[in-house]
Amino acid sequence: MAFWLFLRRGIGTFLLLAFPLALILRAPKRVLPWILYGSVILLFLFMAQEQALHNQIMQMVITGTLLFFLTPLIGIVFSWKENLFCELALLVIYISMLHRFLGASPMFVRLGIIGLLMVITSAFVTWQFELLLRAQHSNYRRIEKMAMRDVLTGQYNRRYFFAIGGRILKQSLRSKRSTSLAMVDLDHFKAVNDRYGHDAGDVVLRETAHCMEREVRETDIVARLGGEEFVILLPEANQEEGRQIAERIRLAIAALSIPIDGPAKAIQVTASLGLAQAMPGTESLKGLLRRADHALYRAKEAGRNQVALSTEVGD
Ligand code: GH3
Ligand code: MG
Ligand code: MG
Repeated sequence: MAFWLFLRRGIGTFLLLAFPLALILRAPKRVLPWILYGSVILLFLFMAQEQALHNQIMQMVITGTLLFFLTPLIGIVFSWKENLFCELALLVIYISMLHRFLGASPMFVRLGIIGLLMVITSAFVTWQFELLLRAQHSNYRRIEKMAMRDVLTGQYNRRYFFAIGGRILKQSLRSKRSTSLAMVDLDHFKAVNDRYGHDAGDVVLRETAHCMEREVRETDIVARLGGEEFVILLPEANQEEGRQIAERIRLAIAALSIPIDGPAKAIQVTASLGLAQAMPGTESLKGLLRRADHALYRAKEAGRNQVALSTEVGD
């Protein structure tokens, strides 16, 4: 007799602890709701076999309460609709159990109503959780974007470029593929600001950045290094292919007619580009940038609105 009592208590305790144990043992998130619902349903069924009616009802009330307050916590796994569905199913079981023990008494009606209210509360809390999580997720995405994008042009920023550029370069050097890099600098941009104002200058920066993005391949990386200076990393492009892309970009920028507010209505700009191909071996991103920058300087010297190729040997 004592043994059966002990066994029953053991099973009951195990079922009660199944969910907290699963949490402690870091069970996969996917199975958590099933452990929770499964253990509670089994607990109900198990308790239905118990003899002491009063205790059973108290236990059911306590377990039911725990259940309805615990489920919102894992609404992260289930959507609120699925959660509501599962809880309604549980409520039906709960109410039928109560009915079995209490019959159609006022106590039964009261507990049933309490159960229903709990289901509604729980679904509402789960829904709120879901909204909160969604907001957090979109906040995270926004912060992530802010960390890697330039605010004005929407292109990658300097930090992201140096973080990703070095890695791409190393990979392509290791797999013996050519990579080129173009430095782009708008010509006489200070004059644009002086003549049309800083806001118009900003519009020009944004439009030229978009233009560059349109002209490159999806795998190329356009980044704003600062001011009116951009860099384009061209994986899988040798010097000749790089030159062709650079030339295409130069022509596209020169062909832009950027609409602005004010009497001028539209602005035309040109850009100078310096191009360098990464030397096979272990050329660093900094070395490649320096050579492209020197080439850019020569493009400026030679009269701007042109592409100059690096003639230096890489380091
Ligand atoms: P060059 O052809 O030799 O490149 O001449 P430049 O006038 O383009 O070069 P310079 O370096 O003298 O001037 C760059 C200008 O870019 C100066 C600065 O006011 C402007 N500038 C830098 N950042 C921004 C920005 O975010 N918005 C605007 N509107 N202008 C900027
Ligand atoms: Mg400039
Ligand atoms: Mg400049």
